[in-house]
Amino acid sequence: MNQITSLCKRRGFVFPSSEIYSGFGSCYDFGPLGVELKNNIKKAWWKEMLQNQEDVVGLDASILMSAKVWQASGHLTAGFADELVDCKKCHHRFRKDFLEKNKCPDCGGELTEARKFNLMMKTFVGPVEDEAAQTYLRAETCQGIYVNFLNVLNSSRQKIPFGIAQIGKAFRNEITPGNFIFRMREFEQMEMQWFCEPKQADKFFDFWKEQRIKWYLGLGIKKENIRAIEVPEKERAHYAKKQIDIEYKFAFGWKEIEGIHNRGDWDLSNHAKHSRQDLRYFDEAAKEKYFPHIIETSVGVERSFLAFLCEAYQEVEGGRTKTTKSKKEKEIVLKLHQDLAPIKIIVLPLVKNKLKIVKKAREVWQLLKPWFVCQYDDAGSIGRRYRRGDEIGVLYAITIDFETLEQEDVTIRDRDTMKQERIKIKELIEFLKSKSVMGDSRLSG
Ligand code: ATP
Repeated sequence: MNQITSLCKRRGFVFPSSEIYSGFGSCYDFGPLGVELKNNIKKAWWKEMLQNQEDVVGLDASILMSAKVWQASGHLTAGFADELVDCKKCHHRFRKDFLEKNKCPDCGGELTEARKFNLMMKTFVGPVEDEAAQTYLRAETCQGIYVNFLNVLNSSRQKIPFGIAQIGKAFRNEITPGNFIFRMREFEQMEMQWFCEPKQADKFFDFWKEQRIKWYLGLGIKKENIRAIEVPEKERAHYAKKQIDIEYKFAFGWKEIEGIHNRGDWDLSNHAKHSRQDLRYFDEAAKEKYFPHIIETSVGVERSFLAFLCEAYQEVEGGRTKTTKSKKEKEIVLKLHQDLAPIKIIVLPLVKNKLKIVKKAREVWQLLKPWFVCQYDDAGSIGRRYRRGDEIGVLYAITIDFETLEQEDVTIRDRDTMKQERIKIKELIEFLKSKSVMGDSRLSG
């Protein structure tokens, strides 16, 4: 984890928030490469969960909602609280369920009785900070989906079963955040809520569980590093009738990266009760009204970001880029899946003091830029530039040399096979497309 944290800082993936003021309580900022990787994860999820499915539509609900939403969902009551204990000696605080012994893990001191601590973050809307103006930053994105169930149903003519997917920020006042970006107080969730007939809920639960595991495997997570664990009743979220945690084998142990939940009719029936709106679905074939049951898939963007980084991070023996003198010296290669790699291509003039080469290299860069996320790099020896590219997972390094000026071709080096080929400049775009290198980085792209 230390190597990954330091790579993230050094190369501009992740920075501690408000760092010049000594940081701010488990919030992080995503730098130039981090935002590309995050966007690629979100794009891969959106493609899988909407484009590749038949009946899933998207939504972007607001973060701030009526406080009544959180009353109805059970988040303001005991349902969304962790048990907090304090050390009587060093005053450090811990989540009781994370402790193995009934002693302070930092100093061995005696602990206080556990008390409930609600994770919702309070805020005020409007100029008067009274109770009527009080609301909360959302702790999960899915409530925005439930309160829009009728709007989506009526405006998009969906029939059950169908899903609504959303990506957005969520906030939790975690007692013990930590492990870098694994547990933060502000994070992003990618959630899909599948509305179905109650008697089909078990079938769809299994279906979505399989789909979600396949998504990770398809993006390079190895089978032995991922598992699905059924959560026993007493440890389940307050809304869950059935729960599976998809876990990744991090350096600090097996930890949840995604939850699959059968939420039954908990959310819709509670919102119907509190809002006095009929949120039941009329099934034309069966001629009956019922609350659809909900299967939820919920993953944190940053947790999956960390899992993808851990999976991709490799230290290989020196010599790969001719920048290391012995095999003992390690070189870093980030073997991110090609859809996730933040920068797909780097364009490298062999030398930077020959005008013709520089001009040609910039021409190649301009040619590729509208199609792929690529960078131009002319600083340092060619070996160092290959090495910098490998470290951030660049898929292809394209070198412009003296031969290019005569032959109109370039050397293209593949990150994973290390194979180098000469390709005509006019064939470059087709060549990269034939390797399925993903197009531009915009989320909608
Ligand atoms: P945990 O048990 O780790 O606190 P949870 O069971 O409360 O997680 P869910 O409410 O099921 O998590 O949220 C779904 C997903 O959202 C999680 O699998 C995780 O990827 C992400 N997530 C939840 N809390 C955080 C957090 N504090 N920081 C980053 N990601 C989070």
